[in-house]
Amino acid sequence: MTRKFQEIVDIVRYNFKQPEGFIPLHAPTFNGNEKKYLEECIDSTFVSSVGKFVDQFEEEIAKYTGSKKAVVCMNGTNALHLALLLVGVERDDEVLTQALTFIATANAISYCGAFPVFIDVDKDTLGLSPQKLESWLIKNVQIRNNISYNKNTGKKISACVPMHTFGHPCKIDKIIEICEKYNIPVVEDAAESLGSYYSPSKIHKGNIFSDKLKHTGTFGKIGVISFNGNKVLTAGGGGMLLFNDSELARKAKHLTTQAKVTHKWEFIHDAIGYNYRMPNLNAALGLAQLEQLSGFLKAKRILALKYKEQFQNLDIEFVSECHGSQSNYWLNAILLKDRKERDRFLEYSNHQGVMTRPVWELINNLSMFKNAHSDDLTISKWLADRLVNIPSSVTLINLKHTK
Ligand SMILES: *Cc1c(COP(=O)(O)O)cnc(C)c1O
Repeated sequence: MTRKFQEIVDIVRYNFKQPEGFIPLHAPTFNGNEKKYLEECIDSTFVSSVGKFVDQFEEEIAKYTGSKKAVVCMNGTNALHLALLLVGVERDDEVLTQALTFIATANAISYCGAFPVFIDVDKDTLGLSPQKLESWLIKNVQIRNNISYNKNTGKKISACVPMHTFGHPCKIDKIIEICEKYNIPVVEDAAESLGSYYSPSKIHKGNIFSDKLKHTGTFGKIGVISFNGNKVLTAGGGGMLLFNDSELARKAKHLTTQAKVTHKWEFIHDAIGYNYRMPNLNAALGLAQLEQLSGFLKAKRILALKYKEQFQNLDIEFVSECHGSQSNYWLNAILLKDRKERDRFLEYSNHQGVMTRPVWELINNLSMFKNAHSDDLTISKWLADRLVNIPSSVTLINLKHTK
């Protein structure tokens, strides 16, 4: 087993051209206009949530993702919170999501006073399973006045939050199709998937066709991106809401800025709002990063393709993008034999200075959510026992090759 572990460590070290020393899981790269924009920002004195970089960052992300409007937030978690409020999640409602996700997804549901219901994921996408979702809905939902209620608890089901795990798009078109039948709005947790695209497949006269690739986060009613330090692109901290509905985007901006009514000097607020708008300083950093995104994505794809080939030679399963989707390969992942091998490899690789991490503990196992409703989670558990993330930073070596 040690030999196998050493071979994996060697592959990582070879790809990062780092025969020794520490290799992090995902470190940011600052190789563009970061310092210039930050200096400009400080010189302008507009360092807080009003300023040209904030507006520009929203416009550029909307353009990049192909959404009608984008609204910035302080981070991905409060962007998710706001998205849920905007689609109408209220206290005591239930929200469907996956157990295999980062804690922020479930926390945002809790901030609304709502309860998550955990559904299984698919093995190929690592994201919410449309089949499992549909069978859960068929078994547990009663529709009254066009609203879906959980038959067992009597609670309203007011949203569904699928997540694009490690940047790999889930089958979002199928999920939305199913949720539409039940009148359940979909909020896409696209926190990890900036630069990931999905193409909805259509069956026409017995043949399967793929549509044009569309950016993740633009399929649901609202999509959420994160710019945390470990994501594909960082603003230091930050989040973005993606909309195809300008009116909903206007409401979002209003709520993120303390619901203040526009007036030259009066302080009138017409709702309980939030102080969720990203500062100009962070937007300056984010904008400089965005200019380099296509290079980052190329470098990440080159690394993932190398990993894929190298692990194939070792007969180790590497998680690849699915047919009909284009992943940003935010965090690369391999699947080991079982939990025991996973644990031993984590111990071995981290001890060697190659940072590796297991997938998140399934959220239904955490103390705060142990009473939450969970469907059958066979695949989530199977993945949690085996999946390990391996170093995935953009390397300058790769970037030079792509210029
Ligand atoms: C990173 C992340 C978030 C939250 O983003 P922050 O900007 O760190 O608040 C939400 N959901 C998922 C799946 C994430 O990976």
